[in-house]
Amino acid sequence: MSVFNAYMSLSGAIDAEVLRDERLSRRTSYRIGGPAALMVVAHSYEALAKAVSVLTAEHVEWVILGKGSNVLASDEGYRGCVILLDDEFSRMTIDAEDATVTAGAGVALSRLVNDAMKAGLSGLECCVGIPGTLGGALSMDAGTRREWIGRRVRDLVVLRPGEGMHRYSGDEVEWGYRCTSLPGNEIILEATLALMPAERAAIAADMDARLRRRRQVQPLTLPSCGSVFRNPPERSAGMLIQACDLAGTTCGGAQISEEHCNFIVNRGGATAADVVTLIQRAHDAVLERHGIDLSCEVKLLGF
Ligand SMILES: Cc1cc2nc3c(=O)[nH]c(=O)nc-3n(C[C@H](O)[C@H](O)[C@H](O)COP(=O)(O)OP(=O)(O)OC[C@H]3O[C@@H](n4cnc5c(N)ncnc54)[C@H](O)[C@@H]3O)c2cc1C
Repeated sequence: MSVFNAYMSLSGAIDAEVLRDERLSRRTSYRIGGPAALMVVAHSYEALAKAVSVLTAEHVEWVILGKGSNVLASDEGYRGCVILLDDEFSRMTIDAEDATVTAGAGVALSRLVNDAMKAGLSGLECCVGIPGTLGGALSMDAGTRREWIGRRVRDLVVLRPGEGMHRYSGDEVEWGYRCTSLPGNEIILEATLALMPAERAAIAADMDARLRRRRQVQPLTLPSCGSVFRNPPERSAGMLIQACDLAGTTCGGAQISEEHCNFIVNRGGATAADVVTLIQRAHDAVLERHGIDLSCEVKLLGF
């Protein structure tokens, strides 16, 4: 694999910023992570397609990063190329009559949720307060444990590396609690979401109530990735960890939050190794005490 060759081929040749050794701590909500050997901030579809084809030809592994709000990047960093989507991927149009929103993968989820509310379109309330981009939200099928964004997808455009663009209708994809049937190598480019006309004030009130609840139960003042583990059926991962008396447990700068045990927060200077130690400790304690094998929601990068 030749990161250097890829860097030389892409630098100045495509509509993108091409960076070497960019620290992932600057690009993740955890504020943790060593350097990415290569980073491409693609400003257009064409630049993205070209970057992926050069990286493939140079055998450089790559990954798409949204706002990095569900990613724990290793202290050693990532030896491949991290690709971010900007500019052309940040376009959004709302058709109030048709009750649809069409948005690029780089659009901030908060903007999408708020603009839909302002247009009197309901259906995205479950995503209020979730950081990240539309691409990240669709890839994770973000939402609550009972409602998720995938249910709103009318159609979805992806880039299939080596093949080109492909359009799915929403019901061709299986959507579930923090999972989808989308192949891991497909890059989400844009989506059209089908929403429902509703009273703007009622949508806003619902969003406010959900935000208040978040602020009551989640440690939102410290860096984190949100919930570390998926909730097992009919159980709460946070409660299971709490029952193991792990609330407040620390490792280096990381801590199992006292407010919400499914959050591991960075209290300052936490390393990825600190977080992984706590993930392991919580996982093993829940397995031993409750016989439940928790699975991680957070995506590990560079491990
Ligand atoms: C305080 C806090 C609260 C949170 N609360 C919630 C919550 O209530 N519900 C919830 O579901 N999540 C929650 N999260 C987690 C996170 O915000 C979501 O998973 C979010 O959707 C991730 O979006 P992102 O753009 O940051 O994606 P990233 O974290 O950058 O990436 C996540 C995954 O998506 C992939 N990806 C990103 N963009 C694309 C693309 N265009 N094409 C293909 N793959 C892509 C990445 O490769 C990675 O595997 C929370 C996080 C924090 C920090």
